[in-house]
Amino acid sequence: MKKTYRGSCHCGAVRYEADIDLAQGTFRCNCSICFKTRAWLAGIPADSFRLVAGEDSLRDYQFGRKNLHHPFCTQCGVRPFSRGADAKGNRFYAVRLNSLDGVEPPELVEAPVKYFDMAHDSMGSPPETGHL
Ligand SMILES: [Zn+2]
Repeated sequence: MKKTYRGSCHCGAVRYEADIDLAQGTFRCNCSICFKTRAWLAGIPADSFRLVAGEDSLRDYQFGRKNLHHPFCTQCGVRPFSRGADAKGNRFYAVRLNSLDGVEPPELVEAPVKYFDMAHDSMGSPPETGHL
């Protein structure tokens, strides 16, 4: 069931609302940025995401092919979300579940997790996932 969550960076300068159905699945990935930031994400269409505060506190970060944006809070360094567009041009956000506020642990525990092997350009699961 889709639910509206609130999320923020650590200092609270950046705040957002996102409509997420956690039962639809979440993902972890072994690409360079997901690995270094231990990202746990839920992908949602851009119109399900609303930045409530902190546009001025965000600094963008891009790397590689620069398809995606990985903004972070210039005060506290937390990255609450990434954003980009898929091959068809559909804009999406990848919300970092660790930046949600007020979410009960069972909701997160019950959310299915898919693993992507993007370190090898694959949406399939990497052979090892326990470290992600
Ligand atoms: Zn912050």
